[in-house]
Amino acid sequence: MNVSQKSKENKDVFTSTQEVIRTALQTMNEPPAMYDLLKEPMRMLTVRIPVKMDDGSVKVFTGYRAQHNDSIGPTKGGVRFHPDVTEEEVKALSMWMSIKCGIVNLPYGGGKGGIPCDPRTMSMRELEGLSRGYVRAISQIVGPTKDIPAPDVYTNAQVMAWMMDEYSRIREFDSPSFITGKPIVLGGSYGRESSTALGVTIVLQEAVNMAGMNVKGSRIIIQGFGNAGSFLAKFLHDAGAIIVGISDARGALYNQEGLDILELLDRRDSFGTVSHLFPDRITNQELLVKECDILIPAAIENQITEQNAHEIKAKIVVEAANGPTTYAATEILTERGVLIVPDVLASAGGVVVSYFEWVQNNQGYYWPLEEINEKLANILTSSFQKVYQTAQTRGINMRLAAYIVGLKRITEAVKWRGWI
Ligand code: GLU
Repeated sequence: MNVSQKSKENKDVFTSTQEVIRTALQTMNEPPAMYDLLKEPMRMLTVRIPVKMDDGSVKVFTGYRAQHNDSIGPTKGGVRFHPDVTEEEVKALSMWMSIKCGIVNLPYGGGKGGIPCDPRTMSMRELEGLSRGYVRAISQIVGPTKDIPAPDVYTNAQVMAWMMDEYSRIREFDSPSFITGKPIVLGGSYGRESSTALGVTIVLQEAVNMAGMNVKGSRIIIQGFGNAGSFLAKFLHDAGAIIVGISDARGALYNQEGLDILELLDRRDSFGTVSHLFPDRITNQELLVKECDILIPAAIENQITEQNAHEIKAKIVVEAANGPTTYAATEILTERGVLIVPDVLASAGGVVVSYFEWVQNNQGYYWPLEEINEKLANILTSSFQKVYQTAQTRGINMRLAAYIVGLKRITEAVKWRGWI
């Protein structure tokens, strides 16, 4: 896909997010000023980051940090390193973080960061320079009680460690609660790495119960084999599901008898690529419309659109990625009786355990894995029920219901603070 096509898509993602927010606020009878406040991030910083590259040249990167709304508390959200990152995409992602945190009751608003770059072609030294440079450039507006970054697409515990170290040096005191998703030895939390996937598994189980189906024996397609997709494949395989399809940035694999997930996990590289090792590869778009019971988009935005929504075979779509389904496609799928567990609910496991990490850092007291997973399961099960009941009672689709649940706390906080 060329650059202008991608940036147009990102613009569409942003405007359609605004549209869902507008519809949700109207349904909630909020005054127009509430929409004016929430239709854009309250703050958006663009920075230039010079990095000395291995060949001796200096490359100047652009970085973004969006803070959507801080009425409930500090803003929170990941930092994405990806060639397709644009300002609009980062804005939309920060808005989704607000809704996510609202649904699962965290004391945060939404934030997000991004740098257009391709980490797959950069050395560790160059990535370290970029990560540290980004923190220096945004240090004025972030911090443990202001805005707390985390991992996202193509950023990981190592990037978080460099960022935490840089921030601690700037502030001249150790600041583990500045960022989440850190390595365990630097104040990371047990269960954080697999938390997005575990969260998806928990809400998937709820959706399966509602649809009168079983995880065991269900045929599942997972699009994306990064952090969320790979842990998910393992969890669902262990639960007795048949993973019939997976994909990565280079292509997809499908076998209606089930794929050898353990072999694929073993052979994937650190960016989650494995499909190129097999000759019978298909495309990501072909994979989405293959036969299955449950489809899990776990990659990037705009995968299920008006173009392919009619051809999706799954009975349940669980969105592990942010923004994989457009609003028009949501309406088509809902009409066709497909149960959608929207991104703002399904992918919230990551930020829930990020919150646990931040609480543990602030306390200086660390919890065992069992306690973390149990707390996560309780939060996500009740959040699923809240969204599902809202959709049923109001007769609306699951995405609009999720936005209403998420926005409710924000609008309340805005009013208590006397902003509107
Ligand atoms: N990047 C993840 C998300 O989109 C995690 C954010 C966080 O942990 O703050 O939900």
